[in-house]
Amino acid sequence: MDCYVMTLFPDMIMSGLLTSITGRAIEEGIINLKAVNIRDYTNSKHGKTDDYPYGGGAGMVMQAQPVYDCYKAVEAELGYKPRVVYLTPQGRVFNQEMAKEFSVEKGIVFLCGHYEGIDERVLEEIVTDNISIGDYVLTGGELPAMCMIDAISRMIPGVLHNNESAEGDSLSDGLLEYPQYSRPEVWNGRRVPPILISGDHAKVDAWRREQSLIRTAERRPDLLEKAAVSPKEREFIRKYLAKSSDV
Ligand code: SAM
Repeated sequence: MDCYVMTLFPDMIMSGLLTSITGRAIEEGIINLKAVNIRDYTNSKHGKTDDYPYGGGAGMVMQAQPVYDCYKAVEAELGYKPRVVYLTPQGRVFNQEMAKEFSVEKGIVFLCGHYEGIDERVLEEIVTDNISIGDYVLTGGELPAMCMIDAISRMIPGVLHNNESAEGDSLSDGLLEYPQYSRPEVWNGRRVPPILISGDHAKVDAWRREQSLIRTAERRPDLLEKAAVSPKEREFIRKYLAKSSDV
């Protein structure tokens, strides 16, 4: 997948993503990551990319010309019209389903704003998707772009190796994942749940499913509305919650 990031801070993108699993995917050529510096495309003699907002108000606005020329250069290099994601707190809130949906794209261009944002006219001209990573305001779109690229890349076949499967991850089936344990069997006086060392795989699977249901009901009950949960499991959750509210 081509992942092009249009930004004023390309080093931030490269140093954030060239490590660990995303770094390996880039090295293996599964992801073609390129951070493109918008400043390289400004017509300003002084390398200026922002100016005061019309109508007044605090802060600076990134100008249309450098962003547009940068995008045109990226489009020409790619040789096709990609989806262009503008990272913005005004967008649709990113989630696991969207990560999966984006993972089948041939390429995605991420546009990172800074300061007060970007001149609306160029956004209207090039952006296909407005996406937020949550209801809070960051200083720039670089961290949101990195979050999206990380989550999307985990959904691309070959990025995770066999021992790093995304199957069963929180939200992969609409529920939170069950708790995980590793060696030693007893740590700080706390024992691993005995079922996990029973060797009975069916019982382990059943226990994990129950834990997933309980955890989701306790921490993210909103997810249960849409998750694939059987009537029997809904009854289990109802009884569990009634019992724990009695305690
Ligand atoms: N004035 C803008 C507004 O109220 O919508 C916010 C600008 S913000 C300080 C600067 C840049 O950070 C934005 O252009 C956007 O690219 C990025 N950004 C900030 N919060 C974000 C979020 N929650 N999700 C995605 N991008 C965000």
